[in-house]
Amino acid sequence: MERVTSHPASQGLFDRARQVSPGGVNSPVRAFRAVGGTPIFMRSGSGAWLTDVDGNRYVDLVGSWGPMLLGHAHPEVLAAVAEAVGRGTSFGTPSEPEVLLAEEIVGRTPVESVRLVSSGTEATMSAIRLARGFTGRDKIVKFAGCYHGHVDALLAEAGSGVVTLGLPETPGVPAHVTADTIVLPYNDRAAVEAAFEQYGDQIACLITEAAAGNMGVVPPEPGFNRFLAETCRKHGALFISDEVMTGFRVTRSGHWGLDGEPEGWRPDLLTFGKVMGGGFPAAAFGGRRDVMEQLAPVGPVYQAGTLSGNPIATTAGLTTLRLADTEAYARLDDASAQLQRLVAEALDAAGVTYALQSAGNMFSVFWGVDKPVTDFAGAQAQEAWRYRPFFHAMLDAGVYLPPSAYECWFVSAAHDSEALSRIAEALPAAARAAAQATPEN
Ligand SMILES: *Cc1c(COP(=O)(O)O)cnc(C)c1O
Repeated sequence: MERVTSHPASQGLFDRARQVSPGGVNSPVRAFRAVGGTPIFMRSGSGAWLTDVDGNRYVDLVGSWGPMLLGHAHPEVLAAVAEAVGRGTSFGTPSEPEVLLAEEIVGRTPVESVRLVSSGTEATMSAIRLARGFTGRDKIVKFAGCYHGHVDALLAEAGSGVVTLGLPETPGVPAHVTADTIVLPYNDRAAVEAAFEQYGDQIACLITEAAAGNMGVVPPEPGFNRFLAETCRKHGALFISDEVMTGFRVTRSGHWGLDGEPEGWRPDLLTFGKVMGGGFPAAAFGGRRDVMEQLAPVGPVYQAGTLSGNPIATTAGLTTLRLADTEAYARLDDASAQLQRLVAEALDAAGVTYALQSAGNMFSVFWGVDKPVTDFAGAQAQEAWRYRPFFHAMLDAGVYLPPSAYECWFVSAAHDSEALSRIAEALPAAARAAAQATPEN
């Protein structure tokens, strides 16, 4: 088996990066704090594969943290982007690709009207402002372990890098900014009912990940999202489904396509990002027309962006979504199912206790737990230290996993049998390393 053990060029770049950037990274989830070692600097990607600056090749199971649905450097996406770049990179005026991308989103999801922004953080921040403006109320409800970007009011008990790094709360967020944020346990209907019982007439919105993917993958219990939407409606609050991670990934309509009740109910607002940018900074929020038309310039709620709807980003996103057809989703679902089977076989053979959880084609492993994880407390009860040696054994064998036990493993439609067999070869030794791990190593 091909081994990857030497990273002098990555080490050199990381040493330089730390001199000029905090921690040497531009997003904390890219650091190897939770697993130890030096972050790998990638130079190029193609399909399911990444090549680092030392020339080592890896099967990629991070997918840029979700966007790369079709794999890296898809030739048709590159061609469309090159063509768009040739016409100029930003105009600060409306342009055609924005309309086409908005039409594609409206055609695939329950939103009637959509505004494009540049990051998922911007999308959730704007959706919450809009919900507060629309309802004239201040309080918002979120779930512990859900991550909605680094919006001040939403960092309370957040997932993703916040949990990976074990940061209880973030200095710089004044207490009064989170004073109106009510944090509840995920999948807990009684807690939701109690909160709305007490504060119902003050709650502007409830925001949830359509399926939690930032504390590891914790799917909503059947009917939970619908219950949330109905509870919100009963109390005049808006229901915001954050599909930044799940959107256009788990089905062509996102998690909405799995909830599968398009006639019965729909979220008032949804947020998107990741896949819809095709690897460029593009995101969106949208939903009910009467709510969206409270936004400037039609309504009084201000929201804006110099690069919103950027022609290159929207071209990349549009091309990606157009290529993400039934056949692409079938390939992705199949690769994910095969991979989940391989992981389970290897962990079983090594005698590891684990819960492998999925929401559509997204999945993750919780280590050392013997019952399904349904909320943040359950996720945090895992033996995350077992992931450290597992991660490094996989990395040394040429498989690039998220450097955290609390992240989803992202498969793409380009994960073919060659990519899967590289992973299959790597898994048994990594599973044994997880079995033999101790909290100290
Ligand atoms: C990634 C993510 C965000 C934040 O998106 P950024 O583009 O990183 O700002 C928000 N919500 C969810 C569910 C996410 O997974």
